[in-house]
Amino acid sequence: MYDVIVVGAGISGIYQLYRLREAGLSVCLCEAGSGVGGTWYWNRYPGARFDSESYSYGYFFSRELFEEWRWSEEFAAQPETERYLNHVVDRFDLRRDIHLATRITGAAYDEADAAWLVTTANGEQLRARFLVSAVGLLSEPYLPAIPGLADFAGEWHHTARWPHEAVELSGRRVAVIGTGSSGVQLIPHAARVAAELVVFQRTANWCTPLNNRPLPASRHQELRRSFHDIYRACHASPGGFVHRPLPLSALEVDPGERLAHFQHLYDSPGLTMLLANFRDITTDQNANAAVTAFLRGKIRDRVTDPAVAELLIPDDHTFGMKRPPLEDGYYEVFNQAHVTLVPLAREPIQAFTRHGIATTNRTYPVDVAVFATGFDAVTGAITRIDIRGRGGARLAHHWAAGPRTHLGLQSAGFPNLFFVGGPQSTTGNIPRATEIQVDWVTACLRHMAEHGRRWVEPTAAAEAAWLSHVSSTVRGTALEHATSWAFGSNIPGKARAYQLYAGGIPAYRAHCEAAVERGYEGFTFG
Ligand code: NAP
Repeated sequence: MYDVIVVGAGISGIYQLYRLREAGLSVCLCEAGSGVGGTWYWNRYPGARFDSESYSYGYFFSRELFEEWRWSEEFAAQPETERYLNHVVDRFDLRRDIHLATRITGAAYDEADAAWLVTTANGEQLRARFLVSAVGLLSEPYLPAIPGLADFAGEWHHTARWPHEAVELSGRRVAVIGTGSSGVQLIPHAARVAAELVVFQRTANWCTPLNNRPLPASRHQELRRSFHDIYRACHASPGGFVHRPLPLSALEVDPGERLAHFQHLYDSPGLTMLLANFRDITTDQNANAAVTAFLRGKIRDRVTDPAVAELLIPDDHTFGMKRPPLEDGYYEVFNQAHVTLVPLAREPIQAFTRHGIATTNRTYPVDVAVFATGFDAVTGAITRIDIRGRGGARLAHHWAAGPRTHLGLQSAGFPNLFFVGGPQSTTGNIPRATEIQVDWVTACLRHMAEHGRRWVEPTAAAEAAWLSHVSSTVRGTALEHATSWAFGSNIPGKARAYQLYAGGIPAYRAHCEAAVERGYEGFTFG
């Protein structure tokens, strides 16, 4: 029997293994993929890259690691990030506890033994005192049920299951369904090589420029010196990023100054338009209208055909209601003669035909179809595992109306099961949020060993209070009425509930620390 089984060798699972190993526990890390990296293993589509500064997203548990790894760009592409995670696994000798190609399909809590019995897709059974889910927030791909796909003679791929072998897009007729962050990254790459590109857009997004740039030696030296400052800045900012909002309201400066700041942000790297803007762009309607109008103008400036520009302007949400995709030449793609934008609101897809995609208007011939249709986010990858807690209760059932946890760390009735990067806890820069959880879980397990405890779970009352708090963090913000994966609203039939935590990293950390200081308030031990 292991002390701990960790599920998922992504950025959070790898760190969890490192900390548990350091705590002297025996750990088995099971990973469904044939390599480590999680998101950065699966999402290999052309154009996949970080859209937050790589150095602020990587690990901070080792200053040596931070100093020796040199990112080639501010926002590294997928292969470089995958190399980084493999480097970490080797540098800290973690690979010997990682079982690749080992998908967990079931986990049942044995009350008599206070242990988890875990089943893998290979038919193995493993036992551990504790189970830590680090399966990722955006890891269960969503494939819409479009009739005819099984008979489609062309090739098709989901961005999150992109093959390791090169997919030939050059000189072919390519269709992309979906214009979220993944689609917006892929589309300019596809446009560069495809003979024809058809983009099927259901909802337009407010995309802002990534403004990526190489990271020269001088900048690397500067980053090395700023190790503590970067870490502190991330942990002090609500989203866990290096950017901070201005202390000013957008409405207390004159219009010229406001526009100049918007333009400055438009020319700045990363998520600055969202995160380094005036403090009230997502909380005050007029401030929000000002930034939204600025971005509307930018789309009109960059897209030559006014009718196409109007299609690319969102009409169902304003800037900040959803995480904005970051782009590099996205809007200019639609100025090219071989690219067609199909607005699904006017022209819905009916079916795949043998050689194309039929909408209500016509059939588009297609050689390669790409689904950039997102994920059954946050809970999807967890509830697909048949997890049974006390009395055989199913976790999927417990979460049927939306996730219920205390601090996003545990659910009532599921002792010794922890989530890192699970529902109701994560916000913004994911590794900065999940390292709080990894450290919390590790400390809790040490505490239990010191006090001879065998199991821990939250009370139902604590779970209800956390649900109420999580809901309050979105109330009255621009997020509240969004239709997005953060609410599960992209998945037909999924209950609408806020799946993340909008209170920000400093508040989240304070709640986790307060629970410990008050003797693990809200948790019961046995
Ligand atoms: P997403 O934001 O959920 O976008 C999915 C797209 O597919 C949307 O345009 C959606 O339209 C469309 N779609 C879904 N079902 C459809 C259907 N039946 N017919 C037609 N279109 C359909 O997924 P994503 O782009 O993979 O991004 C998810 C999240 O992953 C992002 O918000 C971001 O947090 C993260 N991400 C990060 C990076 C990065 O750091 N570089 C890159 C990619 C993704 P609707 O909008 O109408 O639902």
